[in-house]
Amino acid sequence: AHSAAAHPDTHAAITPARLTWQEDDHGSMVPVSGEFGDVYFSHVDGLAESRYVFIEHNHLPERLQKLQARQCFTVAEIGFGTGLNVLALWQLWRTLRAAHSHLADARLHIITTEKYPLTLSDLTQILRMWQTRAPELGEMIEALLAAYPPLIAGCHRLHFDNDNVTLDIWLGDASASFLQWVKPSVGGVDAWFLDGFAPSCNEDLWATTIFESMQRLSSATATAATFSCAGVVKRGLKAHGFEIKKVKGFGRKREMLIAWRAAPDSESTIDTADSTEDSTLDADHDAVPSLPYQHVAVIGAGISGLMAAHTLASRGVTVTLLDKQAPLAGASGNPRALLAPKMTPLSHAAEHLHTVSYLYSGRFYRQMDGMHTDPAAKTDAIVTPTGTMDLLTKANITAAQACAYPESVATALATEEARALSGLSDAATKTHVYLPQAALINPQALKEVILAHPRIRYQTFEVAHLSEQAHGVQLLASDTNSAPLFADAAIVCGAYDSPKLVPSLFACRKIRGQLSWFTPSAEQLDSLPKLPLKYGGYCAPFVATAADAALNPVQAAAPQFLLGASFVRNDTDTAIRVEEHQHNRDKLVSALPELEDILPSDVGQWQARVGIRAQTPDYHPLVGQVTGSQHIWTLCGMGSKGYAFAPLCAQVLADMMGGNIVPVSQRVLASLSPQRARLQKPLNSL
Ligand code: SAM
Repeated sequence: AHSAAAHPDTHAAITPARLTWQEDDHGSMVPVSGEFGDVYFSHVDGLAESRYVFIEHNHLPERLQKLQARQCFTVAEIGFGTGLNVLALWQLWRTLRAAHSHLADARLHIITTEKYPLTLSDLTQILRMWQTRAPELGEMIEALLAAYPPLIAGCHRLHFDNDNVTLDIWLGDASASFLQWVKPSVGGVDAWFLDGFAPSCNEDLWATTIFESMQRLSSATATAATFSCAGVVKRGLKAHGFEIKKVKGFGRKREMLIAWRAAPDSESTIDTADSTEDSTLDADHDAVPSLPYQHVAVIGAGISGLMAAHTLASRGVTVTLLDKQAPLAGASGNPRALLAPKMTPLSHAAEHLHTVSYLYSGRFYRQMDGMHTDPAAKTDAIVTPTGTMDLLTKANITAAQACAYPESVATALATEEARALSGLSDAATKTHVYLPQAALINPQALKEVILAHPRIRYQTFEVAHLSEQAHGVQLLASDTNSAPLFADAAIVCGAYDSPKLVPSLFACRKIRGQLSWFTPSAEQLDSLPKLPLKYGGYCAPFVATAADAALNPVQAAAPQFLLGASFVRNDTDTAIRVEEHQHNRDKLVSALPELEDILPSDVGQWQARVGIRAQTPDYHPLVGQVTGSQHIWTLCGMGSKGYAFAPLCAQVLADMMGGNIVPVSQRVLASLSPQRARLQKPLNSL
């Protein structure tokens, strides 16, 4: 809908920075960009310069300190580079939060862009140097390096939850990225760090579109700072709604530039405005958006409801999570979910919901494990890092296309390695893509962690009627003895039942899916695939836990082998069917005939779980505000991709509710809208 730059086909592959080193005046080595021939940070003291130019001259110590509960301050940067500005800002925020208890539930959202990202090993080398020079950054450097994304175009959202910091790294040209950002109706970018090398060595960056985007995306009280006082920067800012002022530069530098959003009718002039600071600071209080809800009811405790609850609770909202049955009683409650993407050629990855969701959710679940695995509590891990082999039987991509991805995301293995990892014959894995980060997710373990959040309360409650009131919502229970429930807002996560509560919501198709599993003998286990496989269907070995055994007919601690899943339209019967076991078996055997004699043929003995998934015709979920309502939102229609989609879609929803910039492009956001045009067309035309 915007310019050509927003079109997926124009996403060039990301080129990593060509880093070189130069000796500075003090004999220490500083990193230099091979592309631009300029240093990443000051020879004298890069960290002090970051603090002076970008932090102090955007008045961030004062502005951040004024935030209130559930307010979120947004900083946007051109040129992530070595991450030094981000680390300096994060460290300031950490210090402020330690000193001011009122900031406990406020959030810092940093959105940065980078066209030539450093490889992880170059970044590590540079940041290790800062760990020695500035030990106060040590922990943050570790966390940043651990979360650093693969170098794929598009947005990578990282969380540093202990500090309430969200970092979105948009890889790609800053101007193209800005065009894809969605401006929230209230708020926007509060402070800009213009650190993308000076126009003298990077003329292309400072074209008009950058300033147009800054104007579009800025909050009413946005400020900007840059070391560059070049005419093109001054003129660009002035022509796009900013007042500007030259101030003393860092160290020996004569000058730098600051800018602030001009009042709508003011004439901007250079060097005359001394009033910026105070007016900006006073106005900020109202301009910075906050999540306007203290208490939200989430209806439905499948993966969508759990993720909506978790995301809001981590942003300071009290959540009542409701379901007529136990959490995960519906389609999200299989013993394991396979997190492995449906791949697309790399040039489309940034706009491909499957890929962006996969990259995000893998990081998200691993981080949840990292934060919550308490050896004393003996909780089951959420993630079993298995990797997966896609046999490309039904993929949209060839092995050669998949290998264009960074090796940590997708690669093809040499014959011996494929044999060793899979335990299969060379013929079976002849064409494949190996996805090293694919994993099995344990839904019950995830649920335990989410429900343990102090701000989430679970209640068994069948909602018979949901209505909007002046300042919130009312929920009436089917059980007339239960008191009605009130909340500031509701999120409907009721799968195919959602339209019962909100008739205007799209009525999803109901798809019956049966996941089968059996207990292999030691001999069978030896010959079955040793890692999960994708082939149109999917299969995976796993070891059942005591928690699995409490819910499903499996033996704890016994190896199991699962095969998924049938796909039956318009069928809501949840009885287990032998013919669907057979269907799951046949699918695997037709992909891998060598398993014919290994898989037990007596499928009548197999176990299974049946779920009814809610699916839209374009396979994208419904994420957003319900038409005509103020306080009712939805997150549903995940089909069979809930464990991949829900974590990122819950972030998108919470950002929409809070007036923040979402971590997906305009185009992806539009493809999630509960009102999107594709849902209005007759199903058979899709
Ligand atoms: N802020 C960084 C730090 O704290 O280390 C230093 C940034 S360095 C001065 C400038 C950065 O801008 C480089 O990493 C460069 O690759 C990046 N850059 C240059 N042109 C760009 C563009 N068009 N879009 C996005 N990033 C760009």
